[in-house]
Amino acid sequence: MALFDIMDDPRIRETEMFGMPEGPEVLCPICGKATDTFYRGRDGDIFACNNCLTSVDAFDYADRHGWFELAYE
Ligand SMILES: [Zn+2]
Repeated sequence: MALFDIMDDPRIRETEMFGMPEGPEVLCPICGKATDTFYRGRDGDIFACNNCLTSVDAFDYADRHGWFELAYE
């Protein structure tokens, strides 16, 4: 036996054989999918996660809905 022949922890061997164990997941209260990121409004309420949020081009959306307002300062 070599001087530094130390056995691996059984968890290391399990990880090598089966991969990393899954940790706890956080589920979005809106869509129910697991997520790492929540988005909240100014009121502090969660309204979306990265799964149920999509972006829209503001000029395209405003043009379709007649939302153009001219801002002068
Ligand atoms: Zn979501």
